[in-house]
Amino acid sequence: MNLCVLGSTGSIGLQTLDVVRSSGNIRITAIAAGSNIEIAEKQIHEFHPSICCIFDEEKAECLEKRLRAEGNETTAVVCGMDGLIGCAVHPDVDTVLVSVVGMIGIRPTIAAIRAGKNIAQANKEPLVCAGHIIMPMAKEAGISFIPVDSEHSAIFQCLQGEKDNPIDKIWLTASGGPFRGYTGEQLKRVTLQDALRHPSWNMGAKITIDSSTLVNKGLEVIEAHYLFGVPADDIIVAVQPGSVVHSMVQFRDGAIKAQLGVPDMRVPIAYALHQKHRITFDGKKTLGFRELSEIRFMEPDMETFRGLRLGIDACREEGSITTVYNAANEEAVAAFIAGKIGYTDITEGIEACMHAHHNISAPDLDQIFEAEREAREFIRNRYAL
Ligand code: NDP
Ligand code: MG
Repeated sequence: MNLCVLGSTGSIGLQTLDVVRSSGNIRITAIAAGSNIEIAEKQIHEFHPSICCIFDEEKAECLEKRLRAEGNETTAVVCGMDGLIGCAVHPDVDTVLVSVVGMIGIRPTIAAIRAGKNIAQANKEPLVCAGHIIMPMAKEAGISFIPVDSEHSAIFQCLQGEKDNPIDKIWLTASGGPFRGYTGEQLKRVTLQDALRHPSWNMGAKITIDSSTLVNKGLEVIEAHYLFGVPADDIIVAVQPGSVVHSMVQFRDGAIKAQLGVPDMRVPIAYALHQKHRITFDGKKTLGFRELSEIRFMEPDMETFRGLRLGIDACREEGSITTVYNAANEEAVAAFIAGKIGYTDITEGIEACMHAHHNISAPDLDQIFEAEREAREFIRNRYAL
């Protein structure tokens, strides 16, 4: 397999390269990152890709100079959106793992599908905003499109061998985040440091914040809706502290299939890369059922954690509102990380932005990017950013 890893320096990207080290039969043909040339350079030394995109132009130039000074003439260095797409559609690449963060992944995902590449999709925001475009396109292109997000990988795994059995319900599990049980008053005092501590998963900063507000679960309801064609009301979120049950599918006879395991993203990454074939890898951990005293489920508190309720509302409505939900969140989370707004401003900003939006059903790409622009501007104006 010739793999392109978009977002190779991030949490999913680094774990993907770990899986690649254990696999033995995967060549890293292309890598891409935003600006982290220190890690990208080390990855080039180890994996010798044909092409590397650094989105930031100055950083890309700097990396190219360093590589040439070391005598590396074989790795092409590109930048910007053209560079990102150039990696995704590189003629030697057959599989693209999309693990950049945010809506930036929409164009490269679509370009890769159009070029007939198989996709392992970790980057959830493109499905949230453009799932109605991406999923039919993947089907028509006849490529394999396998989710990496742990819940969606679990659902995908539960559906194997069930081609003729429609889904009755999806039970989408949630850890509940670090603030499960908090009141609205307690949430107002949450700091960036508090929000960056997740109880079960070790992830990038943006998704860690999203998990704490439960916006991540709202995004995942929409992601599941487009991936599996299930109506919003048949996707039920259940909190399962500890993240042992990664999600479940209920069929019409009442039977339920679940996928369980120790929280480790390398499992869904390897499953997607190897086209549903299961491999072993170094440092694999297994679940000890006799040591598990219980597996508890509970209802999420959607009154306190409005971010989840808003995501379900957006999923029911469909259209450009899902982009508004996502883009307002991206902008607000970036501002929270930069110390410019408070924790509860994130969800309040999303809600106000959604109220102000006139929904467009089945938006095309231009309308999606316009809705993104408007949502970001709304948040910047609201908080004078
Ligand atoms: P990180 O923040 O850890 O990594 C993001 C990656 O994207 C980095 O390599 C970053 O490069 C790169 N990147 C950012 N902007 C650009 C850009 N403009 N052009 C090219 N590359 C860019 O995120 P995660 O790995 O945690 O998450 C990635 C995606 O996977 C997200 O959509 C997330 O929702 C999803 N996901 C993640 C899970 C996890 O466990 N982490 C679980 C399920 C889904 P640089 O380092 O240079 O900034
Ligand atoms: Mg997830």
